[in-house]
Amino acid sequence: MEPVVIPRSEHTVSRENISPEALKVLYGLKDSGYLAYLAGGGVRDLLLGRKPKDYDVVTNATPNEVRKVFRNSRLIGRRFRLAHVFFGREKIVEVATFRASGSDVEEPESLQNVNHRLKRDDGLILRDNLFGSPEQDAVRRDFTVNALFYNIHDYSIIDYVGGLQDLRKGILKFIGDPGIRCVEDPVRMVRAVRFAAMLGFQFDPATAVAIREHHGKLAHANRSRLYEEVQKLFFCGAAQQAYGLLRDFGLFAILFPEIGSWLGPVPGGLECRRVSQALQQVDEWRHEGRQVTPALLFALMFGGMHEVQADELTAKGEHPGLALHSVTMQHFGGLTERVQVPKLVRYRTAEILASQPRLISEGGTRARPLACREFFPEAVSYLEFSVRLSGQNGAALERVKAILEEAGGESGAEARGNRPGRGRRGRRSKAFRERRDSVALQPQNSP
Ligand code: ATP
Ligand code: MG
Repeated sequence: MEPVVIPRSEHTVSRENISPEALKVLYGLKDSGYLAYLAGGGVRDLLLGRKPKDYDVVTNATPNEVRKVFRNSRLIGRRFRLAHVFFGREKIVEVATFRASGSDVEEPESLQNVNHRLKRDDGLILRDNLFGSPEQDAVRRDFTVNALFYNIHDYSIIDYVGGLQDLRKGILKFIGDPGIRCVEDPVRMVRAVRFAAMLGFQFDPATAVAIREHHGKLAHANRSRLYEEVQKLFFCGAAQQAYGLLRDFGLFAILFPEIGSWLGPVPGGLECRRVSQALQQVDEWRHEGRQVTPALLFALMFGGMHEVQADELTAKGEHPGLALHSVTMQHFGGLTERVQVPKLVRYRTAEILASQPRLISEGGTRARPLACREFFPEAVSYLEFSVRLSGQNGAALERVKAILEEAGGESGAEARGNRPGRGRRGRRSKAFRERRDSVALQPQNSP
């Protein structure tokens, strides 16, 4: 199939807006005689006048050939599918070889050592299970607006899938048969919601029908990938919008079954609004440039439900902090069957919620011992949200904010950490953790 090629004079993508590192990689490949395209979200965002999050480069050079072009590169991934080109410590440009359809799909172990490659005499890869042509690479992508190429040879845009037209019209549309695309990788349904929310796009009718029909298949998606996509979804700056779409398609209850049933099927109820307000808060903080940690996100999202559930336990005599801790951990116990929330994040979420009774007790005067705890900044941010929602405990909030400032802490919505495997928590002894936890969970009337 011949692609539509839009020459430089007829589109708005300028090299000025592409990172110098990505340009170096594109030119490096071109100068070594290879095709070199910018692909994926980068091209989409440049055409929309948005700042791309990252730049993905695709080429007909094999990973080994890419490695030879750039001394500052490393091959990564199973069977060395990708090259990372490094610039300093922080900047990486990912270079992939054009892939054929299905090459993303996990392969059975038995096939992993088979050499799939078939090369033409001039070195161009013709067809194999791994590498493909530019056209194959475009059509294996998820949405038409994500499958545009920017060609460094003549600065043109190459469109195999009608992506430019959809981009102009603001339409999110699966490439190929939408039903098949949902079934072969259900995570794409969550991605669809992210892009529609983030870009403010409408769904192509057939794409929406397919998601509605196949939403239940999300239950069988890979749990770690879902965790990654859920984070990208709620941190995309349009979490509130995304939540509405997830609910509308029935995806929310598949991702988060317990809170899904707590919310019930009818939109607009009190509980539903509570989650929506929490996500609005996340969006607001993101727009202010405050980084929200995953634990704070989950605390905000699930807090309403956990508080109601904990109230039932406290009514039976359970200590409020302990009750919040245990309902949170119990909820995550079930949730991880769908979304693989790392243990560190689960504990941190529980700590943020469990510390709330202590933070507000006696006008915030009893919060000081918590200031040394890693979760304290996030707990203060959570309180900030609660106070805004209820109009109560304003004095306690002022006091704990002052304590936070004294302790030199950042706001929880800015705090780093919470990255699995990085926290200090993992290195501390169980005895230490138990002693420390007892500070957060002490009954309020204890000294
Ligand atoms: P972002 O701006 O959030 O990075 P993106 O479009 O670049 O969005 P990525 O997850 O970085 O999204 O993926 C890069 C590209 O790879 C996508 O634009 C799309 O073309 C392709 N892609 C990613 N995931 C899938 C998938 N599950 N199925 C098909 N193609 C995919
Ligand atoms: Mg990207």
